[in-house]
Amino acid sequence: METKIIRIDRDNIKKEDFKEAGEILRKGGLVAFPTETVYGLGGNGLDPEASKKIYAAKGRPSDNPLIVHIADTKDIEKLAVQIPELAWKLADRFWPGPMTMILKKADTVPKATTGGLDTVAIRLPSDEIARTLIRESGCFIAAPSANSSGRPSPTRAEHVIEDLSGKIDMIIDGGACEIGLESSIIDLSGEKPLILRPGFITREDFEAVVSGVEYDRAVIAKTPDKNIVAKAPGMKYKHYAPKGNITIVEGENDRVVERINLETESCEAKGIPTAVICSDENKNRYKCKKIYDLGSRKHDEDIAAALFDVLRRLDSDGISVIFAESFDELRLSQAIMNRLRKAAGYNTIRV
Ligand code: AMP
Ligand code: MG
Repeated sequence: METKIIRIDRDNIKKEDFKEAGEILRKGGLVAFPTETVYGLGGNGLDPEASKKIYAAKGRPSDNPLIVHIADTKDIEKLAVQIPELAWKLADRFWPGPMTMILKKADTVPKATTGGLDTVAIRLPSDEIARTLIRESGCFIAAPSANSSGRPSPTRAEHVIEDLSGKIDMIIDGGACEIGLESSIIDLSGEKPLILRPGFITREDFEAVVSGVEYDRAVIAKTPDKNIVAKAPGMKYKHYAPKGNITIVEGENDRVVERINLETESCEAKGIPTAVICSDENKNRYKCKKIYDLGSRKHDEDIAAALFDVLRRLDSDGISVIFAESFDELRLSQAIMNRLRKAAGYNTIRV
């Protein structure tokens, strides 16, 4: 299949530019598009055949449900039932934006979209390209991240092209994603609100609207525990890992730098392609030849936005061994470290 790539200028979004994409979606085809979190691989969420195509293109396990994207808050009534008052409150505060809510699903939503579950994940993105596409297509767009299953989520159109070119109908290139980490997922289908995936909206942000919000234990674990199964099916899978082997080094800053220097020196001496993932603050203190600077610890949004791109570059640069600083003290620490720990297969040295 030939994948058509169109570029949309964010400063000049015209409805006409979405005509073909809308038609593809209405006919059951697939269109990848930017959102403020990561690029999504979209299909008509109410069409089970379109959902099946999404799973096939990504190589995604079929028990891993998709997020359905809407452009108007009141549309949750068309997708969910027994909607608690809290859902409206959270929507009011955090939509449009990087929050996904889990609610009891209405019969309109096929189980092919929800991975067989009786609940549905819904999000109203703030990205203007995403919202125009949803409106112009007239569809509720089921869209997981537009990467091959297991690879880092795509934050640029080039990442989508790398993974899905030839497998989907169209890619809309809208430049780099603003946030660069997937949405915060909050489950409202149970007794207590539960964060199933940490993201840009933190527990503290949720707590400002409602008290008693907890994290699903599996998502904040520092080491994998076979006895704790993640409540979001997607969180249990191996994810984000580059081909090289990442080790996170955590502890007091000077000792971290010293240890990483020791480790990388020994690897480079053996001729192993080695790299360091670090913050701006430390980048000049490393002797390693390959440094991937995520940005300043003073701007954790930059670190979040850079992470997936760096994880992909490690592969294209042929790096085999990577040492990463830990980012434990930031507003976005849960979100960033959840991805980094998975990418490292929970491999950590404490100094
Ligand atoms: P992605 O779209 O790639 O960000 O993946 C969507 C994430 O949402 C995965 O981790 C899914 O497991 C999770 N998810 C989607 N629908 C549900 C649901 N009904 N219940 C729990 N988790 C869900
Ligand atoms: Mg994903």
